[in-house]
Amino acid sequence: MTSSNDYDVIVAGAGMSGSLAAAMAARGGASVLLVDRNKEESVGKKTVWGWTCGDAVAGSHIDFLQKNTGVTFSHPELDQQVAGVLALSPDLSSKYPFDGVGYSLDRPEFERKLLQIAKKSGVEYIPEFEVDGPLAENNVITGISGRSKGGEKKIFKSKIVIDCLGVSTVIRRKLPENPYVDRTIDIDDIESTGRYIFEFESLDHEDERYYDRKYALIHLNNEIAPGGYGWVFPRSGNRVNIGLGVQKRSLDIRNKALGKSDNLQSLIDNYVKMLPVFKDLKLYDKDGNGKGSWSVPVRRQMESLVFNGYMGAGDSMVMPNPISAGGIGPALISGIICGKHSARAVQEGDVSMKNLWSYNLEYNELYGKKMAGMEAFRIYLQSLNNSILNYGMKSFLTNEEASDLTVGLIPELSMAQKFKMILKGARNITAFSNLIYTVKKMKELNDIYEKYPKTPEEFPKFKSTVVHEIEEVKERFKPNPIG
Ligand SMILES: Cc1cc2nc3c(=O)[nH]c(=O)nc-3n(C[C@H](O)[C@H](O)[C@H](O)COP(=O)(O)OP(=O)(O)OC[C@H]3O[C@@H](n4cnc5c(N)ncnc54)[C@H](O)[C@@H]3O)c2cc1C
Repeated sequence: MTSSNDYDVIVAGAGMSGSLAAAMAARGGASVLLVDRNKEESVGKKTVWGWTCGDAVAGSHIDFLQKNTGVTFSHPELDQQVAGVLALSPDLSSKYPFDGVGYSLDRPEFERKLLQIAKKSGVEYIPEFEVDGPLAENNVITGISGRSKGGEKKIFKSKIVIDCLGVSTVIRRKLPENPYVDRTIDIDDIESTGRYIFEFESLDHEDERYYDRKYALIHLNNEIAPGGYGWVFPRSGNRVNIGLGVQKRSLDIRNKALGKSDNLQSLIDNYVKMLPVFKDLKLYDKDGNGKGSWSVPVRRQMESLVFNGYMGAGDSMVMPNPISAGGIGPALISGIICGKHSARAVQEGDVSMKNLWSYNLEYNELYGKKMAGMEAFRIYLQSLNNSILNYGMKSFLTNEEASDLTVGLIPELSMAQKFKMILKGARNITAFSNLIYTVKKMKELNDIYEKYPKTPEEFPKFKSTVVHEIEEVKERFKPNPIG
């Protein structure tokens, strides 16, 4: 085992959150080491399967990135602009628009550009380094251990470790037991997802319910994608990203109810076959990135993103939006602000959790505070079968109300509306009552996060309230994809 130079900041994981955290920490004056298991040309590759992702990101998040790095992003890394996202009901008769203008990324190009920003900012980068855990002394994280390219065991020491290892992080999982950052999360809060990138010869016919060059399409359908959804995201030219995500528990229930034995891959392949518009789909395997599967966490972010000498950003901190599973935006935002806060703490000579706490506050304000409410909405959605989804998307919400919900804004749904629905002879009154309950819970959770604790001392009470509220929602709504 060899021990090398000490650094102010070590960033583990050179995905989007990691490269940005490293760049911003270095720009803030810190000496920074960035390590990742990939070769440099494969930077940001999540697994042997590639850079597995739907690659859709909101324009506002790219704006945030450009403003904070001073770097302009354009083609090829922004592969295709879209006018927004459309979520379709299982019978394809209702469409909810959300998210506004966005982009499909060429992910390998995007990740390589972020790494260049980090390197130009003065970051020392070591590729092909496998991290196996944090170093800890007296409840303070003091560095990382791992293996370099030749298999040599190494440790690197630092004042702060930033965990950007993604959903399978071996740092957060091996933190000393503590009440601030949980080491594990509930398996029901993880989506198994996979996708293809295809090129097609031509369209058999136009049908914007299945493919729309201007919009990213989401297909809600609990038989095809139990507890998740299928997607068809346009890329430039005749290319398309087609994928699907499921909740494991919902899939098991669905298989049992239908007497099937589908797994994620068979569901994806069936989904591709049921899209009638494409002629001659062929794998588009640039960078060996045409086919892959991986997991996305879909709950509120870790209640605290910091511990003594430790910070986290992106999927390692469970940041993707619980409804859409969109994790690119939060990875960009958290990477940037986490890097800035680490440099400030190093300069102040205090890397205690108390002094890192302002990162919790800023992330909560910029993005995090709506996520617990959206988690409650996700749990409600997973309790609805196709027939209720079809009916509810037609009758329960206007397009504007639905669009508000996907960004965590709370529509005014009231008991008065419920009575109106009953008078109109509406079916599924229970599902509508459950929606009113959910919206009320979302509001409560938003209010709790508006008062995010200003110091670690106030944190335990906050956390137990949040956990209690979410448990109550999980108790009320069980996954019921076929029901
Ligand atoms: C199928 C799928 C579809 C998705 N679609 C979308 C979408 O359309 N829009 C959207 O916004 N989000 C989407 N997401 C989520 C999004 O891809 C993630 O939120 C995002 O990649 C998070 O970035 P990150 O930097 O936090 O982590 P990652 O991208 O996971 O990067 C982690 C890095 O750490 C490295 N690493 C991990 N462990 C080790 C180790 N032990 N040692 C060394 N290096 C290690 C990895 O190789 C990788 O380079 C999707 C995810 C999946 C799986």
